[in-house]
Amino acid sequence: MNERMSRADVAVIGGGVIGLACALELARRGVSVCVLERDRVGRGCSYGNAGWLTPSLAVPLAAPGQWRKALRWLLDPESPFYIRPRADLKLVSWLIGFLAASRQGQFERGAEALVGLCRASVDAWEEFAKIPDETSFGFVRDGLLSIFETPKALDQAKSAAEMTARFGVPFEVWTGDDVRDREPAVQGGLVGGIFFPREGSCEPYSAVRALADAARQAGVEVLEHAEVLDATVFSGKVRSLRTTLGHVAADEFVLAAGAWSGSLGACLGLRLPMLGAKGYSLLVPPLDPHPQRSLYLAERKIAINPHVESLRISGTLELVGEDLTVNMRRLEGIINGARGMLQLGNPLGEIEVWRGLRPCLPDGMPVIGRTRKSPNLWLATGHQMTGLKTAPGTGQLLADLMCGQTPSFNPDPFRADRYC
Ligand SMILES: Cc1cc2nc3c(=O)[nH]c(=O)nc-3n(C[C@H](O)[C@H](O)[C@H](O)COP(=O)(O)OP(=O)(O)OC[C@H]3O[C@@H](n4cnc5c(N)ncnc54)[C@H](O)[C@@H]3O)c2cc1C
Repeated sequence: MNERMSRADVAVIGGGVIGLACALELARRGVSVCVLERDRVGRGCSYGNAGWLTPSLAVPLAAPGQWRKALRWLLDPESPFYIRPRADLKLVSWLIGFLAASRQGQFERGAEALVGLCRASVDAWEEFAKIPDETSFGFVRDGLLSIFETPKALDQAKSAAEMTARFGVPFEVWTGDDVRDREPAVQGGLVGGIFFPREGSCEPYSAVRALADAARQAGVEVLEHAEVLDATVFSGKVRSLRTTLGHVAADEFVLAAGAWSGSLGACLGLRLPMLGAKGYSLLVPPLDPHPQRSLYLAERKIAINPHVESLRISGTLELVGEDLTVNMRRLEGIINGARGMLQLGNPLGEIEVWRGLRPCLPDGMPVIGRTRKSPNLWLATGHQMTGLKTAPGTGQLLADLMCGQTPSFNPDPFRADRYC
């Protein structure tokens, strides 16, 4: 290790969409910021996600009735959600926390907060996409169509849509014929759809790179290949970080290391019950006809994002911790699921296959705020399936709190001290 020593007002650990959004907002307020990323920026979970900016789906992971599904998932390795049965105390205590958080009242309070954060974030992404200097990241706001194959699932989804409508997300119910007429790319037996006209989408890695460029232009020092190895904590405060590129000192520290925030938090004296939930995405050549908009094959839990020159297919959620191995059975499950409703090429002609770890806390809500453990240690992590769609709002809320300004969003549902 060389003896390089950096100094900034704030050191952000993790150069994913969340760390970069926080760094950008802090820099816009005149704070000197350094981002430490062990790989290249945006190569973690922010790289190949579905690219959806969809408030209608910005809800806590812990939802009512999940415990019944969880029992089924334990037994079915082909299910869209999967928990491999194993004697793992961390997993057991995570599941207990998850089930305890799945009450209707808690779920609705969390959903209201997340939908609000997400709506403001989608507006912010839209504004960001208009800046002429920013590299295009394929932002479009042409809605999300959720498609249903059974009347029961459609009815349940209508109730969920009525809840998010109360939080400002409009929707329309389409018949099966409406779906077939307006979205000729869809085939197979379907009973109808729910269309959310204000939802957006983008190309996720381009979005995170555009954010990194904007952060650099705002004065943020972005250090790539700078892995945080350890921290010096003295009298309850974090003093400096030891990285593969030398030591970094700062007045304040932000932990935004996604699914790795649990293990990294341990060297900062935190016990954060973080689990990574693995998901996959595939990029394939465009279809003929290509979908007009983002499609959610709701009962198969498969997300379709039509980019201009490719189609992104994403899905599955497997609670794994930090294991990134590819499970071919689950990958095939996504491909077969998508084939049931879209005319995919045969052979598929994959351009890219990717997997990532969603950072998940037991109650399925992000933590954004100061820890109780150290007065100069802040958290911005645990965004589960919503990190891209809530990143600008997360950066804004964290910067408000760190700069002592009136918070733009109610910070209580995101309080860090509920865990730390
Ligand atoms: C299949 C799939 C589909 C998804 N679809 C969507 C979607 O459509 N919309 C949406 O909003 N969200 C979606 N998500 C979730 C979204 O991708 C995540 O919520 C988001 O990327 C989390 O961002 P992050 O910055 O917290 O984590 P990451 O992007 O993982 O960033 C954390 C960074 O920390 C770095 N790091 C880790 N350890 C260290 C260390 N010791 N030192 C320095 N750096 C370190 C990592 O290298 C990484 O770059 C999806 C996820 C998956 C898997």
